[in-house]
Amino acid sequence: MKSYDFLIVGAGLFGATFAYKAKQRGLRCLVIDKRNHAGGNVYCKNEHGINIHYYGAHIFHTNDKPVWDFVNRFASFNRYTNSPVANYKGELYNLPFNMNTFYKLWKVTTPQQAQDKINEQIESLKISHPRNLEEQALKLVGTDIYEKLIKGYTEKQWGRKACDLPSFIIKRLPVRFTFDNNYFNDLYQGIPIGGYNKIIDGLLDGVEVKLNTNYLADRDYFNSLADKIVYTGPIDEYFEYRFGTLEYRSLRFEHEHLDVPNFQGNAVVNYTDAAVPYTRIIEHKHFEFGTQPTTIISREYSAEWKPGMEQYYPVNNEENNNRFIRYQQLSSLTNNVIFGGRLAEYKYYDMHQVIASALMKTKKLFGAMAQA
Ligand code: FAD
Ligand code: UDP
Repeated sequence: MKSYDFLIVGAGLFGATFAYKAKQRGLRCLVIDKRNHAGGNVYCKNEHGINIHYYGAHIFHTNDKPVWDFVNRFASFNRYTNSPVANYKGELYNLPFNMNTFYKLWKVTTPQQAQDKINEQIESLKISHPRNLEEQALKLVGTDIYEKLIKGYTEKQWGRKACDLPSFIIKRLPVRFTFDNNYFNDLYQGIPIGGYNKIIDGLLDGVEVKLNTNYLADRDYFNSLADKIVYTGPIDEYFEYRFGTLEYRSLRFEHEHLDVPNFQGNAVVNYTDAAVPYTRIIEHKHFEFGTQPTTIISREYSAEWKPGMEQYYPVNNEENNNRFIRYQQLSSLTNNVIFGGRLAEYKYYDMHQVIASALMKTKKLFGAMAQA
């Protein structure tokens, strides 16, 4: 008999949720992570009394009531509503694109005037079926907003021309003809009071966790420990890149501690001008309405991923998606390994979607195990 029922590779939200559900079933789990902390990309580092979103700004938002109830078992959520501001050449605009943005740009005061202005700008472009992000964005909001608030930011973020990017990326952003700066449409939103580590600690409570431990450095040994493996790392790395590398965008953060109580008055300020090298500045204390005497900001720079760097955003273009399908086919033939999470599924998953996916997979799997 092996020491564990499951060896879970990765202590991010997928691995931790899986471990929690397995533990509830009385199953024995070992969670390993190559990083020196649990939590994956939702990890927060506390400095000067401020929770730093160490791998980028994370705002929990969902319409999924069961997932919302699930995370609320581990932490209470505050009333934070994401309302980023865009800075274009020193001028500030509200995001997502809404009546406040339209008023600032064109001094229009009614939804009809705003819609007329957009229609006037896109009439001559004749875009009926947008073929890429540029066309999609133009069709949604017209040339002024595209030029000032989308093109520069998007091309910095993705390192590619907007006309070479898929249109679905921009569809994530709401466009509203109301005065509503809420970045998300979801019913539930907030930041866990005490930071995301509280949720991770709750999920992993009573579960054996080994940090600084890379599964791929000795996979035969780790496989010998457990009946089943749950793998949440990059799928191409698991299969030794046999079909080639799946591309990602990476990020670099410059964290800075400043001796002022309030640097920018908002958690997130996007810099949409191509000439500014970073995409956004995060001021972490505002996620939790912090009143500390000093502040911590992070400038976020986007970069092409290269081996050795952190994988952040999957580049889901046709070539990468086709390559992923080949890896996925291989994974379905791999016995006793469950692939899950954003890296193993090569998917831009939000937190609630990763949790939902882990809950669904465990439900199915443990149901089948109970029947066997
Ligand atoms: P991860 O958190 O990446 O966890 C995988 C873990 O596996 C990592 O800890 C890694 O070290 C470990 N691992 C990998 N390979 C190995 C190995 N060989 N051996 C051992 N360990 C290994 N979602 C939202 O809902 N709202 C947001 O505002 C939001 N903002 C985001 C901002 C940024 C910049 C990014 C990149 C993502 C954001 N997300 C957001 C998405 C969110 O981060 C993910 O949905 C979630 O963290 C994914 O969890 P995961 O467990 O799948 O992956
Ligand atoms: N985007 C933009 N201008 C902005 C913010 C976002 O053009 O000020 C575009 C950009 O292409 C980005 C996409 O909208 O990749 C989705 O933005 P979101 O904020 O959802 O990205 P994330 O939070 O995942 O970085």
